[in-house]
Amino acid sequence: MSILATFDPEVAEAIRHETERQEYNLELIASENFVSEAVLEAQGSILTNKYAEGYPGKRYYGGCHHVDVVENLAIDRAKQLFGADHANVQPHSGSQANMAVYFSVLKPGDTILGMNLSHGGHLTHGSPVNFSGRFFNVVSYGVSQETEMIDFNEVERLALEHKPKMIVVGASAYPRVLDFAAFRTIADKVGAVIMVDMAHIAGLVAAGLHPNPVPHAEFVTTTTHKTLRGPRGGMILCREEYAKILNSNIFPGIQGGPLMHVIAAKAVAFKEALAPGFKEYQAQIVKNAKTLADELMKRGFRLVSGGTDNHLMLVNLTGTDLTGKIAEESLDKAGITVNKNTVPFETRSPFVTSGFRVGTPAATSHGLKEAEMVEVAGFIAEALANVADDSKLQEIKGRVNELMKRFPLYAGRLK
Ligand code: PLP
Repeated sequence: MSILATFDPEVAEAIRHETERQEYNLELIASENFVSEAVLEAQGSILTNKYAEGYPGKRYYGGCHHVDVVENLAIDRAKQLFGADHANVQPHSGSQANMAVYFSVLKPGDTILGMNLSHGGHLTHGSPVNFSGRFFNVVSYGVSQETEMIDFNEVERLALEHKPKMIVVGASAYPRVLDFAAFRTIADKVGAVIMVDMAHIAGLVAAGLHPNPVPHAEFVTTTTHKTLRGPRGGMILCREEYAKILNSNIFPGIQGGPLMHVIAAKAVAFKEALAPGFKEYQAQIVKNAKTLADELMKRGFRLVSGGTDNHLMLVNLTGTDLTGKIAEESLDKAGITVNKNTVPFETRSPFVTSGFRVGTPAATSHGLKEAEMVEVAGFIAEALANVADDSKLQEIKGRVNELMKRFPLYAGRLK
């Protein structure tokens, strides 16, 4: 028995159950992924014991020689991966990365122009329930009702009218390519700084499968745990002229000691992303998403914007008997994990919603390919046609589990 299982069987058991869930259920949450065992090992290391306030070579604690090596590796690899002047790998999360950028260039009350949450934006892009909406004057852009893609006429009109100090580009639920050059042209017309939050698409960007925002934006933030397939955390890239102010807004601005075990895991993940197989993996994520989108549409589902260019899609249930909440709960019973999601021009509450979001990074990490995506679309359609029939959902779950057993994640090593 492991030391943990001996000392704390309750926690150990919950971890074991979660390991089984990740092995045998089908994970389709677009913002999740499964890290490699090398990343897990770094994150579970004794680096968790070390305080290292400050930055490599300039710490407020002694004994930082080895963690300096680790942080410098993470910084150098991040810069190489995205072609950036400067990288800060200390943000504990994507939200903190965004907060540090805002505090680097904005004052409370300044205007930001960000994407509407219900059109795909993130809470930190100006939602009233988030610090971003409470500290700043927020103007929101969205997608066109006709194409359900970003409406650049609206972005330009709002920019010219409100003269934002910053334009925030990026989304949590947008299935199409982001045209960073178009945002740059608009920002330059009004003298705005651009922050691109590439959290969802960072892996695709690293692999050259989505345009790189770095040449177009003063700041680029990301989480490290989505398509990028690293540990849970954040990172910021910026132009050299902002490096100093940015660093001081992470520490001492909004954080204390960096999580050195997480930074080590980020360094490992960046090395994986620089290795040749990564491009192939990211390309498979995109191929899987396209196949799943096509197969869902063949089965009568309506997708926001009519498809996907990246790793995710949004199923719009408007006009059916289903809500996002019912879909999420029913698919869960069938062993398939998705999240309910608002759709553009949403009429229901965020607790109910008219859609759900589906993504392929985690399933691709398991090894599923196009042929399996056809099966997956079939499972989803069957489950959603039988939401009131628990025994049918249970039977589908059995088939989902059989499929996943053919694609072991940690090959049974983590028990
Ligand atoms: N930015 C975007 C676009 C996201 O989708 C998310 C998380 O879902 C975040 C930021 C926030 O990341 P975190 O949950 O690490 O704070």
